[in-house]
Amino acid sequence: MNPCPCGYLGDPSNRCRCTPEQIQRYRAKLSGPLLDRIDLHLTVARETTILNAPAQDGESTVQAASKVARARERQLQRQGTANAFLDLPGLRRHCALSDADRQWLESACERLGLSLRAAHRVLKVARTLADLAEQQQISREHLAEALQYRPAAG
Ligand SMILES: [Zn+2]
Repeated sequence: MNPCPCGYLGDPSNRCRCTPEQIQRYRAKLSGPLLDRIDLHLTVARETTILNAPAQDGESTVQAASKVARARERQLQRQGTANAFLDLPGLRRHCALSDADRQWLESACERLGLSLRAAHRVLKVARTLADLAEQQQISREHLAEALQYRPAAG
């Protein structure tokens, strides 16, 4: 989605011409329950029009795609399904956290006002980040990154 009706909000090279009222009306159209169903919220810079611009982190599309394929394969071998489709028992079994990390996540979710369902989705995203890093155990770093992909409050 665009961040605002004109699409330039937060863009360093173009000025957004929307009024705060227009932006608010635009966002209100996307209801909370809808936004709650989206796992990853990222603010990305507008696509560059420079055709030979190098990839920012040096990882090519092909490398990224094979990393994703490996992460998916890990999930299927471990639990027979993708992380996104884990049920509650699967979540407990395959997304186990240390006591300290579980408490950390609980207090973070409380602070951010996340529902239990949203917390489970954070856990699944963290599991996927761990799989991408080829780690068996979800670390606090993965949890923190997964939390970043939740929508900002408001
Ligand atoms: Zn705008």
